[in-house]
Amino acid sequence: MTDTGEAAEAVEALAVEAAGESGAPAVAPFRFFALDVLRTRRLGHSFLRVTFGGESLADFRSGGFDQSLSLFLPPAHRDHTVLPDTGEDTWFAAWRGMPDGERPVMRSYTVRGRRRTAAGVDEVDIDFVLHGDASPASYWAGRAVTGRRILAIGPAVAENKSVRFRPPTGTDAIWMYADETALPAAAAILEALPADLPVAAFLEVPHADDRIALAAPADARITWIVRDGAGPERTEQVLGVLRPAALPEAKAPYAWIAGEAGTVRAVRRHLVQERSLDRRAVRFTGYWRLGSSEEQLLAEAYAGQAPGEEPEAAL
Ligand SMILES: Cc1cc2nc3c(=O)[nH]c(=O)nc-3n(C[C@H](O)[C@H](O)[C@H](O)COP(=O)(O)OP(=O)(O)OC[C@H]3O[C@@H](n4cnc5c(N)ncnc54)[C@H](O)[C@@H]3O)c2cc1C
Repeated sequence: MTDTGEAAEAVEALAVEAAGESGAPAVAPFRFFALDVLRTRRLGHSFLRVTFGGESLADFRSGGFDQSLSLFLPPAHRDHTVLPDTGEDTWFAAWRGMPDGERPVMRSYTVRGRRRTAAGVDEVDIDFVLHGDASPASYWAGRAVTGRRILAIGPAVAENKSVRFRPPTGTDAIWMYADETALPAAAAILEALPADLPVAAFLEVPHADDRIALAAPADARITWIVRDGAGPERTEQVLGVLRPAALPEAKAPYAWIAGEAGTVRAVRRHLVQERSLDRRAVRFTGYWRLGSSEEQLLAEAYAGQAPGEEPEAAL
């Protein structure tokens, strides 16, 4: 199984709806939501949880697991996100047509939690990795305060293609790799798995105190990898842990791999080539790429290259 950029998928999803794929009445799987910052909480060294509310969230339907959505975040001089048009068939051109410096950035994030409170307020949690002020989403999250409003394209139906974790029937073990950007998704997946399913999860984080508490199945083997360096050597460190590791014996394992694109490719290659895992039993997603912003990945996706992937033939 392969994957393309989240942002490109969100754009495509709305475009398909706008085109009216079938004549049948349907609830659009994705739509715009207004998200108001309710509160923030620091989780470990690198993570900030932002909890959003907003009336439109009454129609938000998460599929759970690694459900993701596309956030539109304002430029540094604006408090709130403004799009001139959020019509299903017109927003993309309107967004792209905004002047540089005013156009919100579009970024992919995971729905880490979702609830309706006793007071009837719908809330969504997103865990942001704070990786520096030079990057727009990280910058925005580091300054998020109650009352700020952003926009998102998110799911209005639980069954939607931004849930990628889909183990086939008969799966008898889960193998996982995630870096810090995919830790919110890994944590959500782990807490939703059946208690008796064997799991091995390799979780890479920048700092020792990013090793957050996980609600995983009781015998899940969780291996934390605290990174030594921020450059390409990170991949070798991960492979150095993975290669000698004993994975749960299984006839039909399913692997879910997400994080920095170069490491994701290397982990996939290790599982397919060195551990003979059926390549159809691997779901892999490049969540970001060292040295490339999400705009650059989106541009590549539209030019026909899928970020975070290697052509099948190369693996
Ligand atoms: C499906 C999906 C779900 C995701 N879920 C989450 C999530 O829940 N939480 C989360 O924090 N991220 C998540 N990400 C990753 C997030 O979208 C990227 O990290 C994104 O690039 C951040 O945008 P930015 O504006 O901060 O940086 P960009 O402007 O996109 O990038 C600027 C520079 O920073 C580098 N960079 C990007 N991310 C990181 C990082 N984490 N550490 C170090 N350098 C980085 C880039 O290589 C580039 O050189 C997800 C991505 C996908 C595709």
